[in-house]
Amino acid sequence: MLKEVLKHVKTVAIGGHVRPDGDCVGSCLGLYQYIKENYEEIQADVYLEDIPDSFHFIKAAKEIRHEVPDKKEYDLFIVLDCGDKERLGFSKELFEHAKETFCVDHHISNLAFADQNYIFPEASSTSELVYRLLDLEKITKETAECLYLGIVHDTGVFQYSCTAPETMEVAANLMRKGINASEIIEKTFYEKTFAQNQILGRALFESFLFMDGKCIVSYITQRMMEFHGVTPKDLEGIVSQLRVTKGVEVAVLLYETAPHEYKVSLRASGDVDVSRIAQYFGGGGHKKAAGVTMKGTVHDVINNLSGQIHLQL
Ligand code: 5GP
Ligand code: MN
Repeated sequence: MLKEVLKHVKTVAIGGHVRPDGDCVGSCLGLYQYIKENYEEIQADVYLEDIPDSFHFIKAAKEIRHEVPDKKEYDLFIVLDCGDKERLGFSKELFEHAKETFCVDHHISNLAFADQNYIFPEASSTSELVYRLLDLEKITKETAECLYLGIVHDTGVFQYSCTAPETMEVAANLMRKGINASEIIEKTFYEKTFAQNQILGRALFESFLFMDGKCIVSYITQRMMEFHGVTPKDLEGIVSQLRVTKGVEVAVLLYETAPHEYKVSLRASGDVDVSRIAQYFGGGGHKKAAGVTMKGTVHDVINNLSGQIHLQL
């Protein structure tokens, strides 16, 4: 329970992984909101990189800090949805200076790197795990919105196999707090800007199949992003669309983050464990959704990946 973790704590910082996604933002802001509402005596701050525009409807989003303060020592640092210390990005130094650290996560690659750890790889989302640590009666509509957002995103709107009966029960209890569930789904998951749809179309058009149609790959260069006026935040959902191609077991999307450097997103629909592939190259994630950053040309990266994919197909 959160109550025990917060005993004797006067200052707490919350942080999540770089390029925060729905679950990262939902779990961090949900926990932040809950602590603010229920522990007036505790000073809580939340640290995250820029979040997608569609998440700005969350009130607490305005309070996110994007830089670390001069005084760096918090009594407690809570790290959410983040499988290792390096992925904290700019807030890593707050984690390192904190008197105590606590990690809540569901990444299979998480090696329990904090002082106290609450890690369940089979959980749908970190937001579902945060929910389990809270007192249901004390969850307000504002907290519920955040946690619901996180669950929606990490389950692909209750679709992926990580969605358990318990996940639906948690979602039901959050709905009972009066949130506008369908609006959260529509506005944050399905709605795309025109430019986002264009780059999706471009990535689908450029994609190709290999390994007898079991693997699909596409890539987005910085030039393509410039042409369409998009940033990496706008690429969410593309790899999922690649994955639903009939016959495909592994979907791969590369996007260029620097010259000769690509962020790789991997998704699996069969028995392939993509977290193993990502971990092999220094990344991590879940069995069916993982990522890593790799160096080289598109051709090099695909070549290197395909060796590891082939071992599992
Ligand atoms: P995405 O493809 O959406 O960026 O990430 C899929 C999953 O893999 C997420 O759970 C994410 O946290 C994890 N992931 C993505 N990139 C990396 C990475 O470079 N390192 C690690 N450890 N995990 C990653
Ligand atoms: Mn997550």
